[in-house]
Amino acid sequence: MALLPRFVVQLHDATTLHFDFRLQSGDVLRSWAVPKGPSLDPRVRRLAVPVEDHSLSAGEFEGVHTDHRRGSGVVIIWDEGTAEIVRDEPGHLSFILHGRKLSGGFALTRTGAERWILVKVRDADARPGSDIVAERPESIRSGQTWQELRDRPSDSSAAGDHPSREPPGRCRRARRHRGQLIRARGGVRG
Ligand code: MN
Repeated sequence: MALLPRFVVQLHDATTLHFDFRLQSGDVLRSWAVPKGPSLDPRVRRLAVPVEDHSLSAGEFEGVHTDHRRGSGVVIIWDEGTAEIVRDEPGHLSFILHGRKLSGGFALTRTGAERWILVKVRDADARPGSDIVAERPESIRSGQTWQELRDRPSDSSAAGDHPSREPPGRCRRARRHRGQLIRARGGVRG
């Protein structure tokens, strides 16, 4: 059984809040910054700015970057799964996603030097009029929103029972330390 490539969508609070759409190609993740995030509505065209390839481990990162110069540095894994590549040509990619929030056909098409457009293909998984980003803001791994991760609550009532979750009451220093550990394992960029 052939292993399908992975995809991951991370929500990243940097200089501006944006989504990072990453699609595995061999041992790297081809990456686009999508300011407004993906949509399941085929009428919605979302700007996708190509950025450098990332390591596979970068796509596993959820946490708070220790370098806060470019915004808070909070990253959550908003969606992930596998992808079937349908077409892969210069300036055009189409693929079928098998994620928890995103499923069915999508296309990425270059419309300018640093400008691609991400659209949902019209198929059975399309949901015209929907706003998946608003409906499902939370991490697919921990159940937390990026704000909850940023303001790690001192009680344990927040959603998410992820095993890597720290006990309640840890301070900012502990969060930063955790970020460093994850960074050390993962080699996170951008
Ligand atoms: Mn980013």
